[in-house]
Amino acid sequence: MKPAPFIYHRPKTVEDAVALLAEVAPLDGRILAGGQSLIPMMALRLAYPAHLVDINGVAGIDRIVVEDGELVIGALARHARFEKPVEPGPTGQLLAQVCHNIAHFPIRSRGTFCGSLANADPASEWCLVAATLGAKLVARSEAGTRILAPRDFFQGIMTTGLAPEEMLVEVRLPMLPSDAKFGFYEFSRRAGDFALASSLTAFRVENGVIAAPLVGVGGAEAHPRRIPEAEHALLGQQATMATFERAAQAAAIAIDPLEDAATNAGYRRDLVRTVVRRALELAISQSERPQ
Ligand SMILES: Cc1cc2nc3c(=O)[nH]c(=O)nc-3n(C[C@H](O)[C@H](O)[C@H](O)COP(=O)(O)OP(=O)(O)OC[C@H]3O[C@@H](n4cnc5c(N)ncnc54)[C@H](O)[C@@H]3O)c2cc1C
Repeated sequence: MKPAPFIYHRPKTVEDAVALLAEVAPLDGRILAGGQSLIPMMALRLAYPAHLVDINGVAGIDRIVVEDGELVIGALARHARFEKPVEPGPTGQLLAQVCHNIAHFPIRSRGTFCGSLANADPASEWCLVAATLGAKLVARSEAGTRILAPRDFFQGIMTTGLAPEEMLVEVRLPMLPSDAKFGFYEFSRRAGDFALASSLTAFRVENGVIAAPLVGVGGAEAHPRRIPEAEHALLGQQATMATFERAAQAAAIAIDPLEDAATNAGYRRDLVRTVVRRALELAISQSERPQ
């Protein structure tokens, strides 16, 4: 099947892009970034926007830079840019590990970090990263700039707090401290598929116990989020397998699992317990391995 007809726009600046969006969003206009979600949906006629505002010609929005302790990721930074660490600390290493789980290389070479967030698939790895690390999501429209926290941005399955006339111009990820340990684990039926459940964890060990734990879960609920119950089970405890199992169990109980024909709630909870425990175990085993 071919897409329904649409009018194509190719702005050269962010200002032109948001001006165009202001004009065409009420007429069912949308941004085209990497096209790796939108174009298949259009080809299947699951989406038929009347206007496409293609941001691939906009200068200066592909930057990935460290500013004020945050990693700034521009709207056109493609997944593949993260395959090698974009900075030398744990944040760069974490993003490189996560990146290899996203689809396949041709898709990674075109799809964008910000496009994944705007698309808000519950299983998106970058949405999990943004939710777990507490990203700031910077939205621009003709009315000005807004910064959204993950809890305001991620609102449901493929649903965000972005207004139709807003462009996600960049994402600011807080950088993990240099002694942070992190682990990412996901389960999908085939390599490159969207995950049925995933977990990203990070913490430090201070005076022999866990400090500043972050536990995020993706793919299991309508959108990825941190699980306070699991973080509470880790805080101030020794980093042992028994502690990790308690945190994993807390996460499995806390989630409100998505269900479909092949995946019931009990199975999804089991998967969450497994992915959280394995992410925590990886956080320890990877930090003991020479870099
Ligand atoms: C076979 C296949 C397997 C895949 N597997 C995975 C996977 O395992 N994990 C994963 O996370 N993804 C996966 N994807 C999706 C891929 O990562 C996409 O690149 C991503 O979801 C969307 O990014 P994009 O830049 O291609 O956005 P597009 O497809 O261009 O746009 C997606 C949506 O976001 C909106 N949008 C895009 N950019 C912006 C912006 N800056 N501001 C506001 N709105 C914007 C568009 O209007 C559209 O509604 C897969 C895709 C395919 C085809």
